[in-house]
Amino acid sequence: MLSIVPAFGRIGEENAFAVLARANQLASEGRDIINLGIGQPDMPTPGPIVEAGIKALRDGHHGYTPATGILPLREAVARDIHRRHGVEVSPDSVLIVPGGKVTMFMAILMFGEPGAEILYPDPGFPIYRSMIEFTGATPVPVPIREENGFAFSAADTLSLISDKTRLLIVNSPANPTGGVTPKHEIDALVAGLARYPDIAVLSDEIYGTMTYDGEAHHSLLTYPEIRDRLIYLDGASKTYAMTGWRLGWSVWPKPLYEAARKLAVNAHSCVNAATQWAGIAALDGSQDCVAEMVAEFDRRRALVVEGLNGLPNVSCITPKGAFYAFPNVVKTGWKAKKLTSALLEEAGVAVIGGPDFGVNGEGYLRLSYANSAENIARALERMRTFLAERL
Ligand code: PLP
Repeated sequence: MLSIVPAFGRIGEENAFAVLARANQLASEGRDIINLGIGQPDMPTPGPIVEAGIKALRDGHHGYTPATGILPLREAVARDIHRRHGVEVSPDSVLIVPGGKVTMFMAILMFGEPGAEILYPDPGFPIYRSMIEFTGATPVPVPIREENGFAFSAADTLSLISDKTRLLIVNSPANPTGGVTPKHEIDALVAGLARYPDIAVLSDEIYGTMTYDGEAHHSLLTYPEIRDRLIYLDGASKTYAMTGWRLGWSVWPKPLYEAARKLAVNAHSCVNAATQWAGIAALDGSQDCVAEMVAEFDRRRALVVEGLNGLPNVSCITPKGAFYAFPNVVKTGWKAKKLTSALLEEAGVAVIGGPDFGVNGEGYLRLSYANSAENIARALERMRTFLAERL
C-alpha cells in the first residue's frame, strides 16, 4: 500500500469549494440554487486586460519567464504600490506568483516547523491554518471579534506572542468578515512588535482596494520600522476580477527574497507569460474599472446588510471592506454548519458556515455579495421564509 508523508494528514482545504461543488450538483439536477458562497467577483475581467493577454499570446510570449516575473510587471507593481500607499519599493524586491495563495504558502513554509508558533486570524482565510499545520508548526489563533468590528486587536495579538512565535499573519480588509483594521490598531500593533524583532509579519492585503464608507486601507508597507521583516501579499484576483488567471505579487525583505525565488524555481518556474503581460495592463491602465466594481459591491453591501438585519433573530454589522458579510445567527438556535447545509438543501441558497473559518466562527455565516442585486434579494427572501418557518 502506498503511504504518503503524515503532513498530508494535517492539510486542510477551503470548504467554499466543497459548497460550490454541492451547489453545482444540485443545480445540475435542476434545482434553482443561488450561490452566495463563492469568494470571487462575478464580473468578467475588464476588456483591456483580456486584450493585453490575447495580444501577448499573439506576440509570441509563450515561453518561460524569469522565476521572479518579468521586469516590466515588477516595475508596474512598484508603481502601483507607490500610487496607492505612497511607498517606494524596489522592483527587485517584488516577486510575481501564481496567485496570492502562493505568497502565503512560501511565507508559512519559511517559518513553519515543529516547535514554531504562527499567529493567524480566526475567523480567517482557512488556508492559513491548513498550511501552518502542514509544516508541523503550532497554529495560534488570534481572535477576531464582532464587538471590535471584526478588526485585528493589537492587544489580543501581542498577548499571544511567545518565545516560539516566528510569524504573524495579518489580513485587512478581511475574509470572511469584511472587517477593516483601523490605523490606531495597526499603529499599536507595529509599536508592540518593536519588542519582538525576530518575528516576521505576513500582511495579506489582497482586498486592499475594497473599502467602503470612506474607510481607508492602511498598508503595513507604510511602516518603515517593520519593513525589514514584512512580507506584503497582493494580487490581481479580486481587484481586477482575475481569479482564474492566477496572478499575485509580493514584496519581500532582502534576506527572504532569494529563498522565495528558489521556491518559485522549484515549484512553478514562473507565472504564465501572457498573464503577466495582462497584469501590466491591469496595473498601468485606467483604474476606473476598479472604482466601478467597488461602487457596485457597495450598493450590494447595503442590500445584504439591510436584508440580513431583517431576518428573524439574525444581526449583521456593516462590513467596511472586501465583499463579504458575516451575520451573527446565534439567536436562531441553529449551529452554523447545520444551518448552512439546510439553507442549501432546502432553501437553495449556498452560503459558508463561520466554523469553516476557525473556532471563533461558530454562530456566524459568511455571505459573499459577489452576486447580482436581484439574486441577493431572492436569496434573502428565501432565507427569511426558511427561518420564519423554523422558529
Ligand atoms: N487571501 C485571502 C484573504 C483570500 O480571501 C484569498 C482568496 O479568496 C486569497 C488570499 C487568495 O487569492 P488568490 O486567488 O490570488 O490565490
